[in-house]
Amino acid sequence: MSRQLPTYAYFEGDIVPFEQATVSVMNHTLNYGTGAFGGIRGYWNEDEEQLFVFRPLEHFTRFLNSAKLLSFELDYTPESLWKILLELLRKEEWKTNVYIRPLAYVKNSLIGVRLHDLEYGVTMFSLPFGSYVDDETGCSVTISSWRRVDDNSIPARGKLTGSYVNSAFIKTDAQRAGFTEALVLNQDGHIAEGSAENFFMVRNGIVYTPPITANILEAITRRTVIDLMRDEIGLQVEERNIDRSEVYLADEAFFCGTGVQIAAITSVDHRPIGTGEMGPVVSELRDLYFGVVTGHNPKYRHWNVPVYEEIPTTTRS
Ligand code: PMP
Repeated sequence: MSRQLPTYAYFEGDIVPFEQATVSVMNHTLNYGTGAFGGIRGYWNEDEEQLFVFRPLEHFTRFLNSAKLLSFELDYTPESLWKILLELLRKEEWKTNVYIRPLAYVKNSLIGVRLHDLEYGVTMFSLPFGSYVDDETGCSVTISSWRRVDDNSIPARGKLTGSYVNSAFIKTDAQRAGFTEALVLNQDGHIAEGSAENFFMVRNGIVYTPPITANILEAITRRTVIDLMRDEIGLQVEERNIDRSEVYLADEAFFCGTGVQIAAITSVDHRPIGTGEMGPVVSELRDLYFGVVTGHNPKYRHWNVPVYEEIPTTTRS
């Protein structure tokens, strides 16, 4: 992970020096977790000297939906957010892989927890970013003793800042116990997802993943993976509840998400998954995924939105 900070941020309607994008210690979102955010990746394509942002409009739609769950009144569309992001990235002049964080927050500094009758704002910043987990080819995972937040307490389908306390409990306890990550069960006892990534497993040639109604995030990478599994790898994908013991018997399993990308799960609670090494389906998916996100796969170029001016393909005589 990079330690380089952004130079600029979008804040209060302008692109400003990053140091100027600050809020009060009394800020409502800081105190009560009343925010919605996103996580988007941009991939630097060396061959074309181009930065490609992966599915930005889908990310901004999810972002605005997350804010809508909080009753935020925002004067933005996915397209207007993309315009802001384009200006921000061009100003940063990144020539490397980046992570982009849009955040919708309550601007007020006041005591009183609620969602209504407040002022809402959007901020955005970007920074160089590498891998989210140490080894994307072999994660050791445990089943968390925590449960996933329920739709009737904090909806997991949105990316809401306060609900990441749940993710932080899951992640820290897993890492303190010596694991890379954890799978968390929902209130029904079925597999939900990882602390910040979605879960898939392969068993007897069929791919399984929990449905959105299992208290998981409405995620972009999950949708991408379902399409790639069906259309490119040619496997059947079933969205259905998954029992913990099914995971122990899986042939292959993996996490996916903007941050984690595609990360093989090679053991769960010290039980090897399949051979205990990354399997052929996950390996093929990883190759495919990195080709797609970096703009090297012509069939999926519509998912790669270029940041810098298009390089002309023909020269005028
Ligand atoms: N689940 C959770 C809880 C997450 O935080 C993330 C990361 N945004 C994901 C899944 C993956 O979502 P996406 O593919 O949209 O990045």
